[in-house]
Amino acid sequence: MTTMTEAAPQTRSFEADVAKLLHLMVHSIYSDKDVFLRELISNAADACEKLRYEAISQPDLLGEDSQPGITVTLDAEGRCLTIEDNGIGMNEAEMAEALGTIARSGTKAFMEKIAGAKDAEGSQMIGQFGVGFYSAFMVADRVDVTSRRGGTDTAATWSSDGLGTYTIQPADVADAPARGTRVVLHLKEDAATYTDSFTVERTIKTQSGHVPVPIILKDKPDAEPKRITDGAALWTRSKNEVSAEDYKDFYRTVAGQFDEPALTIHYRAEGRHEYSVLAFVPETRPLDLFDPDRAGRMKLYVRRVFITDEAQILPRYLRFVRGLVDSSDLPLNVSREMIQESPALAGIQKGVANRVLSDLEKLSASDAERYLKIWEAFGAVLKEGLCEDYGRRETLLGLARFKSTVSGSQWTSLKDYVASVKENQTAIYYATGPDLDRLASSPQLEGFRARGIEVLLLTDQVDSFWVTSGVDYEGKPFKSVTQGLADLSLIPLPEGQEPASTASDAVNTFIAFVKATLGDAVADVCASDRLTESAVCLVAPEHGMDRQLEKLLAGAGRLDTATRPVLEINPQHALIKKLSEVSDGETELREDAAHLLFDEARIADGELPIDPRAFSARLTRVLSRGLN
Ligand code: ADP
Ligand code: MG
Repeated sequence: MTTMTEAAPQTRSFEADVAKLLHLMVHSIYSDKDVFLRELISNAADACEKLRYEAISQPDLLGEDSQPGITVTLDAEGRCLTIEDNGIGMNEAEMAEALGTIARSGTKAFMEKIAGAKDAEGSQMIGQFGVGFYSAFMVADRVDVTSRRGGTDTAATWSSDGLGTYTIQPADVADAPARGTRVVLHLKEDAATYTDSFTVERTIKTQSGHVPVPIILKDKPDAEPKRITDGAALWTRSKNEVSAEDYKDFYRTVAGQFDEPALTIHYRAEGRHEYSVLAFVPETRPLDLFDPDRAGRMKLYVRRVFITDEAQILPRYLRFVRGLVDSSDLPLNVSREMIQESPALAGIQKGVANRVLSDLEKLSASDAERYLKIWEAFGAVLKEGLCEDYGRRETLLGLARFKSTVSGSQWTSLKDYVASVKENQTAIYYATGPDLDRLASSPQLEGFRARGIEVLLLTDQVDSFWVTSGVDYEGKPFKSVTQGLADLSLIPLPEGQEPASTASDAVNTFIAFVKATLGDAVADVCASDRLTESAVCLVAPEHGMDRQLEKLLAGAGRLDTATRPVLEINPQHALIKKLSEVSDGETELREDAAHLLFDEARIADGELPIDPRAFSARLTRVLSRGLN
């Protein structure tokens, strides 16, 4: 072994992404450097938990040192801070892999975000993206990591100034941790405050007070060790022994976010399956909420031993919930792969999902304002459940809140919607589109407004999917205002308003002419009862896809044929009446009008005219004619 320690250090380059990340980390995140401590302690704690897990099948790994611990040592004279753990440790290859590359797929997105982010936001993002280790370079101009993997008799040192390269070389086992990892930060001049024991102790207690491994602080390299956190598992305590402050600190540790939990769920399930749950709904969206790779983030423990955070305890549409489940009845030595098959896990999955939803329901009744905050942040994700979890649809529809033509800037529920339906109204009407204001002013809504019929305005992408998945609420189906017949004639208008009478013969003739002129561009042209002020609008044919869904799919390249829309014409509109009276001989004017009406309807839907050059030629002709 001794020959190895004399080998020349091997210099290697960081993966390009790491180098870029380090640069950003050092140059764009100035405030709140404290997070580096949280990140390094969390890595040390993870290493201790991994050891505990591996030791289940290999008890020898623990040796004589079976109590996990993290020791933070300060050295003001040498301007050094050291974090040492007796966890699983890393061998040379593992170090090169873990500290020289970035495994996570979200990293690119992270770097783009962080480059444009303000200080405080930037430091919040670090934890979320699992690039924690590199935060050490915010405060250190050299970092040495000496590690010895449990069960091996060699150690290695990784060392870098964070500027593009690092070295790895074998280390003298006598100086290395007997097992685990020692991270030495050679602090920058302006980071000397991290050798001050008061500052460091306070920071660790607030950021990492509930890490499930005890933390020991040494003021000086030769000082007496002092235990500053106890490593007790917060979730094993009963609710009335835990303060709001404790919950908040713990939430920040598990979520890697700096906001407050909007909802805390802490209980012990008893009966067929016994387990404790401590889970939180955050206040704000994590950045990668819609990353397709983002999975749930609930950790699974078995009798306080961390097993995995990939057990998919909650369904995907609850992926914003952070926390853990500690099971008393799963066998400790179950392999991670076997867990998925276990009936106990199935029981936990069902129980926890139900509990999260019922706690949300309770919150919506007891504290509507706080509930709406959660809905604003995560409603779009919860609605995915309407397509994915048929068994809980009722519950999810009950939790859903909507903007509508009646609610204005407020949120409304389906319960309220159904309570105020109009006479003979058999459906729940909705419109979908990306922009709320534009949606609210769509011509297709006019006839509904005139009758006082509430229309839900749905602006999330997922809305186009769940509304067409056959849902109903209290026996009322959902119906798009931009698809098929509006069929409003049965619903009375307020007193004093005349219903749109049927089209006159002249108008019908004109409609037939428009249809013939537009030919294949439209599926049909017909008289509308959904318009009151506008002359025209487009709707989707009764069968097939609604227009917004089609746009979404086409935009995602998942559609090659477009459905032809139906052009609806308002038979009562002054312009339409006038056009119907234009004599047959004026072919050019009538044809221009037919095309312009179609293009007008497209523009009102936020689209371009079919043929922009032909459109402007026609517009010019018609306008010039008006001026003659
Ligand atoms: P993350 O913790 O999200 O994986 P980090 O950048 O914080 O990302 O750490 C990268 C990797 O480095 C870890 O996944 C782990 O494999 C390794 N690592 C870091 N610190 C330690 C440590 N104290 N003991 C063992 N492995 C560590
Ligand atoms: Mg980490």
